[in-house]
Amino acid sequence: MKVSADQYLRKPEWLRVKLTKAQDYGHVKGVLEASYLHTICESGACPNKAECWSAGTATFMILGDICTRNCRFCNVKTGRPLPPDPNEPLRVAEAVKSMGVKHCVITSVDRDDLTDGGASVWAETIRNVRTIAPETTIEILIPDFKGNVADIQTVIDEKPDVVGHNLETVRRLTREVRVFADYDTSLDVLAYMAISSNITTKSGIMLGLGETENEIYETMDDLIGVNCKVLTIGQYLQPTRNHLPVKNYVHPDDFDRYGIIARDKGFQFVESAPLVRSSYHAERTIRKV
Ligand code: SF4
Repeated sequence: MKVSADQYLRKPEWLRVKLTKAQDYGHVKGVLEASYLHTICESGACPNKAECWSAGTATFMILGDICTRNCRFCNVKTGRPLPPDPNEPLRVAEAVKSMGVKHCVITSVDRDDLTDGGASVWAETIRNVRTIAPETTIEILIPDFKGNVADIQTVIDEKPDVVGHNLETVRRLTREVRVFADYDTSLDVLAYMAISSNITTKSGIMLGLGETENEIYETMDDLIGVNCKVLTIGQYLQPTRNHLPVKNYVHPDDFDRYGIIARDKGFQFVESAPLVRSSYHAERTIRKV
């Protein structure tokens, strides 16, 4: 069942997020502020921030908070970024340690301005977390590095436990939604990681951008075809009026159905619900795969 966004100005009931008092997530907020670190939870205006932060977890965003791309779904600032901060990898590791998380998730802005796309900073960050918080498992959500396998190899050489790269949407809508990204390049990135390492690969898509049901299944098949093991499916929400509008709100029952179909197609672990984001309940992934 699909509900046209034009019919309802307000979000459907199932997307209303229960408010959490700020002090409930004071510890995470305090650690992040003291460390001068960015999170995709804040930069991406994630609707799950209260839930995740009060559970003591957050997704770090490295390489600054300005992205060189301007995907039309994403709330992260775009423009000319500052040079990488040489102390950021250490601060991420120390924040992971003081948050005491069993499983940490790290992502980054796109850094097409850097010759290695930021791969060396990624590697250093993973190394620092391994050294300072050796008991913590590491999940990373990486950009496409323009498909440059040397840069991808630099990152996966550090052996994170899970590597994600999001397709974000179906093939037909990729240009409109991700602008500078290419669907096949993203599949190639996932294929390369699955072939060249035994690290679990993960991807995510958003629904509600105008994709058809068949296109969703084709996307699942494409991901299975590159040996992707974990899939997240969530509802796209328009961060501001300058971003792509929501075409439709997908009912939770349909998310459940897509989850069942994805598991039948061969994904080892699937999270499919309106508020699912790639890092939502990420610790479950590591327990399952
Ligand atoms: S789902 Fe991910 S990005 Fe959103 S608040 Fe939770 S950890 Fe942060």
